Amino acid sequence: MQAVGGTTRVIGVFGDPVQHSLSPAMHNAALAHLGLDYVYVPFHVPQGRLAAACEGLRALQVRGTNVTIPHKVEIQAHLDARSQEAELIGAVNTVVNEDGRLVGYNTDGAGFVRSLREEAAFAPDGRRVLLLGAGGAAKAIAVGLALAGAGEIVIANRTLAKAEAIANVVQSAASTRARALGVAQWPAPDDAALRAAAAEAELIVNATSLGMHAGAGEPPIIPAAWLQPDHCVCDIVYTPPETPLLAAAKAAGARALPGIGMLIHQGAIAFEHFTGQPAPVAVMRAALLAALGRH
Ligand code: NAP
Repeated sequence: MQAVGGTTRVIGVFGDPVQHSLSPAMHNAALAHLGLDYVYVPFHVPQGRLAAACEGLRALQVRGTNVTIPHKVEIQAHLDARSQEAELIGAVNTVVNEDGRLVGYNTDGAGFVRSLREEAAFAPDGRRVLLLGAGGAAKAIAVGLALAGAGEIVIANRTLAKAEAIANVVQSAASTRARALGVAQWPAPDDAALRAAAAEAELIVNATSLGMHAGAGEPPIIPAAWLQPDHCVCDIVYTPPETPLLAAAKAAGARALPGIGMLIHQGAIAFEHFTGQPAPVAVMRAALLAALGRH
């Protein structure tokens, strides 16, 4: 890391809890690699203290902050402006302090799309997507894919109303077709509508939390028999590195994209907002893998 001196600028991450955050390792490695005079620190911001924390960014001229659970939605009320993506997603994961004016961005969707393009060589333009899940991450991914020109997104979720809400946002944002599908349970049984959506899709994304900490032998979120060699399959769950869905995709001869790519690229885009410099993605990946104990 660069020595901290009188000219050093501060970047951080707001969260509660925040001590588990992987962002300081990833960003400090990138800053050191480029020799930039910044330091990236965790800020533990308890619920109810967000307004004061945002005022603190202004008062202390902190350059910016990432935002994680539980503040991504509430922080919007304390900002001066938001990007179009952040407005559509209704959540902010990156705040840049432009001379006291706090501008919010959401880099999750664009990070997902960048990982898709760069790590799976998959261009979303005009493509049909089956998105499993309708939580915060799914919404960011749906908006990211829509703004990148995806042709159609089918959003399948246990709670149908949440999938419908995302479909409405997608249709308000872009010419992408979007529809919602209710799924009684995951792993999905042989549900005909879901099976048809999988058969028609070119990209299948798991954005539910199923598959997290999965052990060997656990079934994938959709039946392995539905996966085809021409599918691109992504699981945004990144622990374990190979989820049952990714293992099934590989066995089917499909392209399998691990969730770590989204995590790296959302950080890379945030880094570019903070510093104005292209992010050293390989350095950020190595730091992240080391912080996760994977080398
Ligand atoms: P979230 O807002 O809580 O959404 C969770 C999603 O999983 C919802 O669709 C929810 O369905 C579904 N779900 C959870 N438990 C379920 C169950 N037992 N049965 C059926 N559906 C269930 O969470 P999130 O922030 O979107 O995160 C989702 C996952 O993505 C997490 O594993 C997180 O670690 C991962 N993630 C990865 C990245 C990355 O960069 N790779 C970024 C963000 C998140 P309902 O709507 O029906 O409840």
